[in-house]
Amino acid sequence: MTQQQLELNRSWWRGAARAVLLRCPRCGKGRVFRRLVIMNEQCAACHLTFDRGHGYWLGSMMFNMAFAMGAVVAVFVLTLVLTSPEPDWDLTIILVVTIALLSPLLFFPFSRTLWIAAERAARLRDGTESE
Ligand SMILES: [Zn+2]
Repeated sequence: MTQQQLELNRSWWRGAARAVLLRCPRCGKGRVFRRLVIMNEQCAACHLTFDRGHGYWLGSMMFNMAFAMGAVVAVFVLTLVLTSPEPDWDLTIILVVTIALLSPLLFFPFSRTLWIAAERAARLRDGTESE
């Protein structure tokens, strides 16, 4: 792995860590959201544009759906394992439906910030953006 690839990987992980904290993936200082679901247009500290136009959030929807599906499968398997050998199907259905409804809402801001970080890492790799 070359030095440039190592730096790109470090940049991605640094941006992802900042995204998990709902901070700007580039500088880590500016907040991406000013309220729970209301985003800032750009970072107050480094002026990174968060919304890059029509269709930009498709990737964040993919992240959100993947997380929701993973949470549903995890809760389903965990419930079955914990209630075996006689699975409690009523409890399983209640928990799975609850998680299926709530997890996309709870993960919404994180899917957005993680998408900004991932898309920015791709632009860094392509050379269309610099640190
Ligand atoms: Zn910033």
